[in-house]
Amino acid sequence: MKFLCDDNLGKLAKYLRILGYDTFFKKTLSDAELLAVMLKQKRIVLTRDNNLIKKIEPGKYLLIETDSPDEQLKAVIKSLKLKLHENELFSRCLVCNEICHDVTKEEIADEVFPYTIKTHKQFKKCPACGRVYWQGSHYKDMVQRLKSVIGEVDQ
Ligand SMILES: [Zn+2]
Repeated sequence: MKFLCDDNLGKLAKYLRILGYDTFFKKTLSDAELLAVMLKQKRIVLTRDNNLIKKIEPGKYLLIETDSPDEQLKAVIKSLKLKLHENELFSRCLVCNEICHDVTKEEIADEVFPYTIKTHKQFKKCPACGRVYWQGSHYKDMVQRLKSVIGEVDQ
């Protein structure tokens, strides 16, 4: 399942990418552009916009009715029956949605603090923007948080 978040749903897009879901998001996106991407890339539209959904076939969108990103994520998980797959967590770049590749410590030695290299085993890099990801404390906090959000959804 692939998603397209409207320009009000940046935080939700980030959450979905953390969970490994292919999620299109752009800060400024016209309705025409959004609909074109939706059709071309066969994405489910997640939107806060009551008017936009009038232009979309039923079943191809989910109207998000809350401003809270946590509640938004719960609504998506519940409505679309998403599951959390441990091995897909943080497989995608949070900024550009690309799938990140495993890299060796040698490859990223110049890009990450020596302490980080020393204290972590696995690193991933985004082929598009070059960001390097590792499972630091921020990662663990985020996974914990998402798990508790997802845990609150009764399916
Ligand atoms: Zn990237």
